[in-house]
Amino acid sequence: MNIPKKTKRYCPYCKKHTEHNILQVKSKPRPKTKKNALKLGVRRHARKTSGYHGSTSPKVKPVKTSKKVNIIFECAECGKKQYKLHQVRAKKIKQGV
Ligand SMILES: [Zn+2]
Repeated sequence: MNIPKKTKRYCPYCKKHTEHNILQVKSKPRPKTKKNALKLGVRRHARKTSGYHGSTSPKVKPVKTSKKVNIIFECAECGKKQYKLHQVRAKKIKQGV
């Protein structure tokens, strides 16, 4: 997927259309919590997978192979950043054509 480096967009802070630099940020994965570390299912799974036995259920392959990318617009005049509401799902993102 190709995205340009600069676009003209409305800036709500300047209240007019200005040049915006396009930055891209990969969406971060959710942090793993240790809240459920001692629940019964977790303990049972640990007991079953301990020793020489492998995993109890077949590993699930990911259905989606692409990743979500956040696109950020930075106003060239005031320097404020605006997030695009919708994340773009793409395997590769090229910038500047
Ligand atoms: Zn601005």
